[in-house]
Amino acid sequence: MKKKHVIPMAVLSSALLMGTVAPTQTHAISENASPNAHAQIQQKSVHKDHDNRPIFVQEKQKEQYTKANENSAKAHLNKNKDRFKMADPERSLGNATVTKDELGMTHVKLQQEKNGVPVEGHQVVVHYDKENKVQAVNGQFNEAVEQEDLSTNASLSETSGLEIARESVDAPEQLVELPTSTLVIYPFQDENYLAYKVNVNFLGEDPGNWFVYVDANTGKVIDKYNALMHADGYQSSKGSGTGVLGDHRNLHITHSNEKGVEANGTDFYLYDQSHENLDGIYTYDAQNSWDYSALPGKLFTSPNASFHDDYEKPAVDAHYNSEKVYEYYLEEHDRNSIDGEGMAIKSTVHYGVDYNNAFWNGRQMTYGDGDGEFFIPLSAGLDVAAHEMAHGVTTYSAGLKYRFQSGALNEAFSDIFGALVDEEDWEIGEDIMGGDAVASGRTSLRSLSDPSKYPVGAKYAPYGDGNGMYPSHMDEYYDLPLNLDNGGVHINSSIINHAAYITGEQIGKDKLGQIYYRALTVYLQPESDFSHARQSVIQSAVDLYGENSEEAQATEDGFNQVGITE
Ligand SMILES: [Zn+2]
Repeated sequence: MKKKHVIPMAVLSSALLMGTVAPTQTHAISENASPNAHAQIQQKSVHKDHDNRPIFVQEKQKEQYTKANENSAKAHLNKNKDRFKMADPERSLGNATVTKDELGMTHVKLQQEKNGVPVEGHQVVVHYDKENKVQAVNGQFNEAVEQEDLSTNASLSETSGLEIARESVDAPEQLVELPTSTLVIYPFQDENYLAYKVNVNFLGEDPGNWFVYVDANTGKVIDKYNALMHADGYQSSKGSGTGVLGDHRNLHITHSNEKGVEANGTDFYLYDQSHENLDGIYTYDAQNSWDYSALPGKLFTSPNASFHDDYEKPAVDAHYNSEKVYEYYLEEHDRNSIDGEGMAIKSTVHYGVDYNNAFWNGRQMTYGDGDGEFFIPLSAGLDVAAHEMAHGVTTYSAGLKYRFQSGALNEAFSDIFGALVDEEDWEIGEDIMGGDAVASGRTSLRSLSDPSKYPVGAKYAPYGDGNGMYPSHMDEYYDLPLNLDNGGVHINSSIINHAAYITGEQIGKDKLGQIYYRALTVYLQPESDFSHARQSVIQSAVDLYGENSEEAQATEDGFNQVGITE
């Protein structure tokens, strides 16, 4: 029995910038947990000499198999099980997904399981070349879970688990949708729990997209975090249309007579159905409401085919930029939309009042109007749209967990693709800054070329090297707790951003995009850290351009220069 209650995919949502989240259970453990943290935990059989981090093994032998599939992947792991520290890969791995990429490589991903129950965030991937020779094995395998005598029969009912989770995050009665629950093995702070992983999504001015892990035997809340963030840090701070900055835009729109749209007189809608194999590009209007439950809102409508009023300008940009980002992924990476399968691209503008942020909530992009001082309407930034959509691509590929280093990678990939799609510079948000921000010297939100030219904000500063600026190097890393920016996801991301910039300056943005896209969609794992990112990105460069190629060297150089050396 794997899942008792299957509801749509887990939702990952993430905002453009950091903000205050409701205080969560604060725990000191980080990706860089100190040895002491391990020592304090009650000893479990094999834990002590196993640090349970993602592995990345480049195979020297290049063993060849007749087929690249689940069976040969398991056979390969079984044959090398001592090396991979696995006792019984046949039994402990399952639910295979097999993908073939444009280089002809095949990637067989196996989920770690205990009696058929998935081990959260743990999977092993065997990578084959065209001739079915194994090139690399990576992923994360929890040796202790495999060996411990861990029961997978829950004594707590799923209903109780859901109720405990709801209470633990003060969820209101009215939820956007039913919470989802999955029975998992959850390795956390050196213990392995049988847990209900519950996702609770709710609304209001303080929206929540919580992941709560409830012990499926004792009912204790083991861990929880909010994957939706919103800002409060910057108070002062074929039709056609006109964008926020005055650009003339040609738009693909829909007339109400055409099918598929709520027909209503002779209205024209920001609904683009012109792309084959895409379920459409839709732009909605939240009408300045904060009601998260009402998203996506009302389809943006005009009595004629031209959208030139001030109120229409943010919608024009959202609509136009969504199409640009869609075309980027299709043309550069042969990816059809966010999920690679043509899912509809939805954006909502005019969310809330003077809202200084934008976010991806697992289903769509949402843009505030800005307060006019720090930001103007955020949809005006092509890089902002690309940043948000990249979160969607990450959700459907690497699934990087939105906390600590994996969360910082999630943010970094969004910024990097922001700078790749909006290719003129290495800045994020240069087109959405308000007059007051610019006057104070804040001409963009973040910089990949020179992250350290901007301050991080007073509450984060004490966790860094004292400088108070965004870090450009591991020496300047911010060791933040989970309740501050989810452990620095918008801050430490700038170290990875800067590594990408250094590489991009050497080989150009096109090749940089190929390499990073491959890392994101082929190698990175939900719990990857910066070191794993280095290996994944370099491996991608080697796959694409060859060992010792200029591209592989430039990629390595980028990581070396920011102090991620292994
Ligand atoms: Zn983001």
